[in-house]
Amino acid sequence: MANAKETLKIFFGYDSFREGQEGIIESILEGRDGLAIMPTGAGKSICYQVPALMLSGITIVISPLISLMQDQVKALNEAGIHAAFINSSLTETQIRKALNLAAKGTYKIIYVAPERLESYDFIDFAYHADISMVTVDEAHCISQWGQDFRPSYLKIVNFIKNLPKRPIVSAFTATATEEVKEDILCILNLVNPNVTVTGFDRENLYYSVENIRRKEDFVIHYIEKHPKDSGIIYCATRKNVDNLFEALYKRGVSVTRYHAGIDNETRKKNQDDFIYDRAPVIVATNAFGMGIDKSNVRYVIHYNMPQSMENYYQEAGRAGRDGEPAQCILLFSAQDIVINKFLLEQKDFSGLDDEDAELVKQRDMRRLQTMEGYCRTTGCLRNYILNYFGEKTAMPCDNCGNCHREYKEVDMTAEARQVIQCVAETRGRYGLTVVLGTLAGADRARLRELGTVNYKSYGALKNTGEALIRSLISQMVEEGYLYQTEDKYSVLRLGDITPLGDENARVVMRTYEEKEPEKKKKPARRKNTDSLTAAGYDLFEELRKLRLEIAREESLPPYIIFNDKTLIDMCVKLPKDEHDLLQVSGVGESKLKKYGKRFLSAIKAFTDARQRSLSLYSLGE
Ligand code: ADP
Ligand code: ZN
Repeated sequence: MANAKETLKIFFGYDSFREGQEGIIESILEGRDGLAIMPTGAGKSICYQVPALMLSGITIVISPLISLMQDQVKALNEAGIHAAFINSSLTETQIRKALNLAAKGTYKIIYVAPERLESYDFIDFAYHADISMVTVDEAHCISQWGQDFRPSYLKIVNFIKNLPKRPIVSAFTATATEEVKEDILCILNLVNPNVTVTGFDRENLYYSVENIRRKEDFVIHYIEKHPKDSGIIYCATRKNVDNLFEALYKRGVSVTRYHAGIDNETRKKNQDDFIYDRAPVIVATNAFGMGIDKSNVRYVIHYNMPQSMENYYQEAGRAGRDGEPAQCILLFSAQDIVINKFLLEQKDFSGLDDEDAELVKQRDMRRLQTMEGYCRTTGCLRNYILNYFGEKTAMPCDNCGNCHREYKEVDMTAEARQVIQCVAETRGRYGLTVVLGTLAGADRARLRELGTVNYKSYGALKNTGEALIRSLISQMVEEGYLYQTEDKYSVLRLGDITPLGDENARVVMRTYEEKEPEKKKKPARRKNTDSLTAAGYDLFEELRKLRLEIAREESLPPYIIFNDKTLIDMCVKLPKDEHDLLQVSGVGESKLKKYGKRFLSAIKAFTDARQRSLSLYSLGE
C-alpha cells in the first residue's frame, strides 16, 4: 500500500505536506482521535482525505454546508477519488440510490449534513457498513461560544455512540479560541486526542487598514488598478451592498452581489458567476462565503469594520487560498463603530435569560473593541491578529500596511500624563467624549454641568488637537495604561499598569506621514506570476484560456481543474511529456489522464511558435 506521501502525490499531485499535515495524518493512521486547529486555507481537507484513502473502510465527513460538500466532492472526483454527498439537495430517490452504492462500498468518502445523522436510512446504512473514521469539519459549530453554533452538531455524539464499532473521530476547525477548543474536545468526547494547532499566520496575506471616508472612490480605484483579479468586498448592510454594486456595475465592472435579501435562485446564480469567474468581483454581506473554496481570490476588501476579529480573520482569510500573495484591506471610518453598536443592539436575545443575554452582550462589546483596536493600532497588523489568537510574536512582520507606512515617532509622555491626570480626576466616572472635551478645554454645557471645567487637566492639551488625543487615548488603552469598560455607557478608568510615575517610562506615538498610495500598498512579496517573463505570462494566459474552455465543457469551476499555482508551475517547468507534467505541483494521476494531453499540446504549440532559446522564466528573485 502506498504511504501517505505517495497518496498525496498520486491523487492530489503535491510533493510535500504543509505544516502540521503529516503529524495529523500519522496520528489518525495510528488510530487516534484528533482535533486540528488550522487557519483557513492551511489545507485541512488533505488531513482527513489522505488517511480516508488509506484506511480500510469508509470515512463519513460531517459538514455544515451544502455548497461546501458539493465543491469538495467535485474536487475529489476530479482527483479520481470515489466520493459522494448526501444532503437535502438530493431527492429521496437519489438519496436511496447513493446509500445503496455506499452500502456496496463504492465510496471511500461520504459527506453528510449533521441533520442526516438522525435519518433512519442513514443510521441503518452506517450500522452495517465498515466505518473507519468520522470526521467533523467546521467543528466549532458544536460550540455555543462560537457564532456559528448549530444545534444539530450535538447529534454527532449519539450517532457515533450507536455504531457497532467506534470509528476514529477527527475534528477540524479554524476557530482558535480556548473556549471553543475546550467545547469541541469535551462535547465530541474525543478519546486521548492528538491536538494540533498550527501557526495562524498566513504569510501570503498582506493586511492593511485604510482610514478613509471616501470608501467608494477607494474601491473603484482599486478595481481599476487590478482589473484581472478576483475579489470579495464585504459590506456591513444590504443597503451598502446594493449601493456599491450599482456604482461598480455602472462603471462596467464584471461584478455580482450576494446578501440574504436576494431570492435563493438569484443568490445561487450570483455565487456561481463569482466562482466560475464570470463575475470575478462580488459585493456581499457576511452571509456570503462560508464554504466558498475559490482559490484565486486576490483581495478581500472590508467596506466596513466587522464585528469581531474572529469574523475578520475568517472573511479576510478567503483571500489567497492558493498560497499566492493576496491583499486584505479594511476600510475604516469612525462611523463603522456606530453602525456596529447599532447592529449589536438590534441583536435578538430571545431564548436567553437576562443574565446570559447580558454576558453575551458584554462578550460582543469586548470583541468589537478588539476589532476597533485593530483599526486604530499603529503597530504591526499581523502581530495584532496573531497575538489575539494567542500566538506570541517578536518582530514586526514587514509585510503589512502599518509596517510599510512611513511614520514619525513622537514622544507623547507628557500628554499621556495629562490624560492620566484627567481620568484620575473623573474618578473613572466618565467616558471618552467627556475626557476628550475636558483635555481639549472645550466650551460645552455638559462639561460645566459635570464640573470638569474645574479640573487641573481642563484644557491641558488644548493645542494637541482632538484627533491626536483620541489616538493617544486609544493607544493608552491598548498598552494597558487605561481601561475602557465594556458596557453601553463605556467609561475610562486607570489601567492595571501605571508606570508613568516612573521617570523612564515613555509613551511613543507613531503618526503617519501621508504618502503616495502606490508606495503604501506595494506588497513585499511578489506574485508568483512576477517570476514569469513577458513570454511566460503569455503562456500563462493561454493556459488559463484552455482551463476555462475545459471548465465550461465539464461544468466545473476552473480552479477545480487546476489552480493558478499549478498553471504557473507549468509555465516555469515547460513539461514536454507526461512524466514531466507529473512533476508539476497539483498534477496527480487522475488529472494527468484527463487533461494532460491538452495541456501538453498547448504548451508545445506555444513553445514551438517561439524560439527555442527564449527563456520563459526570469531567473533570480
Ligand atoms: P482549509 O480547509 O484549511 O481552508 P483547504 O483544505 O481547502 O484549506 O486547502 C487550501 C488549498 O491548499 C487547496 O487548494 C489545497 O489543494 C491546497 N493544499 C493543501 N495541502 C497542500 C499541500 N500539501 N501542498 C500544496 N497544496 C496544498
Ligand atoms: Zn506588520
